[in-house]
Amino acid sequence: MTFKALLLDQGDGGVTSQITQLDDSQLPDGDVTVEVEYSSLNYKDGMVMSGIGRLVREYPHIPGVDLAGTVSESSDDRFAVGDRVVLTGWRVGEVWWGGYSTRAKVKADWLVKLPDSISTHDAMAIGTAGFTAMQALIALERHGLAAGDSLLVTGASGGLGSSAIVWGGVGGYAVTASTGRLENTDELKALGASEVIDRATIAEAPTRPLSSETWAGCIDAVGGDTLANVLTTLRSRASVAACGLAGGNGLNTTVIPFLLRGVNLLGIDSVMCPADHRSEVWAAMEASGGISKLVGMSTTVALDEVIALAPEILAGNVKGRTVVECV
Ligand code: NDP
Repeated sequence: MTFKALLLDQGDGGVTSQITQLDDSQLPDGDVTVEVEYSSLNYKDGMVMSGIGRLVREYPHIPGVDLAGTVSESSDDRFAVGDRVVLTGWRVGEVWWGGYSTRAKVKADWLVKLPDSISTHDAMAIGTAGFTAMQALIALERHGLAAGDSLLVTGASGGLGSSAIVWGGVGGYAVTASTGRLENTDELKALGASEVIDRATIAEAPTRPLSSETWAGCIDAVGGDTLANVLTTLRSRASVAACGLAGGNGLNTTVIPFLLRGVNLLGIDSVMCPADHRSEVWAAMEASGGISKLVGMSTTVALDEVIALAPEILAGNVKGRTVVECV
């Protein structure tokens, strides 16, 4: 049997991409074979497809950091033929072959059974970005964020940011969206933001170790000077969930916000997130009532369209979530 995949290889001029047919004998070792129905486009997929960050060590390679589909073969008791499953993280799409394929063979440990009410399409409208945003919100809540509190979301027009707005909005938080694309204001408000600010207002390195106490929590997709700025404006005992580096991986700050305001810098890693927490995060998303909003703002593209979109997501030009149909 053959399957279709987006295959990366290393050429003289860098990484090349093509849609091709592969034979089942080329699939890697694994306990479960999944007929992939959907994957999605994430910032890391843009990095992998552009050969940035040395994330891929072996070519040829199939990218796609997440996937959702139906089990067609399983040697693991936890999964049976016909089960609908989702996979995010575990370095799939980087170290292991990923979701830009109609078939994948993976470790059973990496899979989560999809809650009944979530389709494989909608699971990928959520995808790694939406999963990470809910992980971040849960972390903030465990550190004291309570309904009605002010929640800043940076990188708001992107996949992680727009998901965070949805989860925050349906969760009853007063969400402020920070974006470089103010033309998206109406859409960000429709997702759940009560206020939209220009990211330029928080993008410069802070000039003082503390500024006025503004945010009860923050989900940050940007990092760099934006994150340094947020740390100076968190309220006493508030937390920021550091999720991303779209604006830079540096962090030039002082310890003053930690010592004088007791603020918390929470690291969010969706890739190696333990299995029991994954099920908890999927259950929280199902219970949130926000999935249809996320789905409503997602765009679905064909597998071959991803090739042109990879540089666009790195340039910050992709809006919201992009679902990839694997047929
Ligand atoms: P997107 O490209 O969809 O979103 C990133 C957003 O950040 C952009 O849409 C833009 O929003 C903003 N942005 C882009 N460039 C800059 C810049 N130079 N300065 C300030 N803001 C900028 O990516 P994702 O949502 O998929 O991922 C966001 C980040 O989160 C990435 O760094 C990614 O690697 C990381 N991530 C981390 C995970 C984890 O496990 N910790 C999991 C998933 C993602 P706007 O136009 O609104 O300003």
